Amino acid sequence: MKHCPRCNQRYEDKDLNFCLNDGELLVEFDTSDAPPTLYMDSPRKTAENWPDVNTQQAGQNQQIYGYQQQQMYQPPGIPLAQTSFGTDNSLPTISLILGISAWVLMCCYLGIPLGAAAAITGYIGYSRSNQDPSRYGGGSMAVIGIVLGAISFFLTILMFVFGFIGGIIGG
Ligand SMILES: [Zn+2]
Repeated sequence: MKHCPRCNQRYEDKDLNFCLNDGELLVEFDTSDAPPTLYMDSPRKTAENWPDVNTQQAGQNQQIYGYQQQQMYQPPGIPLAQTSFGTDNSLPTISLILGISAWVLMCCYLGIPLGAAAAITGYIGYSRSNQDPSRYGGGSMAVIGIVLGAISFFLTILMFVFGFIGGIIGG
């Protein structure tokens, strides 16, 4: 693959040396999309211990990081487990986003799948944050996600049903 530095036209023909549009000297294109198998094999052979070293280092880093976190963020007298720092808010966040999306996209009947997904993720996130508050947070976000998702879900079903009945009556 070659390409023209002036007009960026690409040429598959290796024997072509000049651009057909402007006569500019063609430059060999970086063929990173087709790496030779030779390059793929050599690192595997030479780096047999790489995954072990990698996970070991990651574990050490995690330990150091966790230790530093405790030292830096733990207020005196309060156990780390009772602080909300570092809790997992991913499910409540997903639920909230899904709930808002369901609300916005209710008109297109997307409130049913999005609302159901928001309610489910919100429920899981909420029960997690109740059972293990030291690891999972975002309970209030999860509640908003559940409420938005449920409202969107049922309103979309209502719209669907009335649209269906209206279609029968009108037709
Ligand atoms: Zn050109």
